[in-house]
Amino acid sequence: MNGLGTFKKFTDNLNEQDEKMPVLFIGHGSPMNGIENNEFSLQWEKTGKELPTPEAVLVISAHWLTNGTHITAMEHPQTIHDFGGFPQELYEIQYPAPGDVVLANETKELIQSTNVGLNHDWGLDHGAWTVVRRMYPDAKIPVLQLSIDYSKPASYHYELAKELAALREKGVLIIGSGNMVHNLRMVAWDNFNEPNYGYDWAIEMHELFKKKITEGDHASLIKYETLSKSAKLAIPTPDHYYPLMYTLGLQEKNETPVFFNDKLVAGSLNMTSVKFG
Ligand code: ZN
Repeated sequence: MNGLGTFKKFTDNLNEQDEKMPVLFIGHGSPMNGIENNEFSLQWEKTGKELPTPEAVLVISAHWLTNGTHITAMEHPQTIHDFGGFPQELYEIQYPAPGDVVLANETKELIQSTNVGLNHDWGLDHGAWTVVRRMYPDAKIPVLQLSIDYSKPASYHYELAKELAALREKGVLIIGSGNMVHNLRMVAWDNFNEPNYGYDWAIEMHELFKKKITEGDHASLIKYETLSKSAKLAIPTPDHYYPLMYTLGLQEKNETPVFFNDKLVAGSLNMTSVKFG
């Protein structure tokens, strides 16, 4: 009952939430989406306006890989510019959204399958801030990150996500931020600006992921290596895929997927994003 007891403290400060918050997977793509006005970033802005206003945002970003699972628990998370070779303008962006120490502690208590660490030195990496800043430019809503235990398989992340389900009822917007098809070594730089350009294997996996998500076939998506021979090319390493496991783990049975930013980019990436609820 300890978890429920402390939960009350967070909910005491909330307006009654009539509806469960949706849960998102967002394909974040290039860090430049954080400052460019393109179809992807404009859709993030639109999504922010369309969703019920969250009490807090919890992001599982492809760019925070750890041993064990950790949650940011500082009052003022720093903006992390975890990329190289981009214009100075991008490094100057600060997104001063507050953290939420109480919510961090309560999320830690909610997760029983592992001992979640309270983190005081991460902040918001570009998997989080490039997206959330466009959705909530005022930076008034608290933003937290939950790390990805990179020693664990997809099934672990899928199951861990289920322990976060109560947060949706408390007005917390949970976002998995990665990319389903993500092979940076094979990026077709010459075709970077060609709309919806994908290699054959990327198109195959792009369609297959959507088909399996639409069918609710989570078991196949968890065993992604066996989906097709092309899976190795779409997911050479699972860092950008694991955030999808959190979103799928939080999907309720009656929730159907709504896809957006459903495009391939530069041959070997897709931006396909999905909302449940
Ligand atoms: Zn990324």
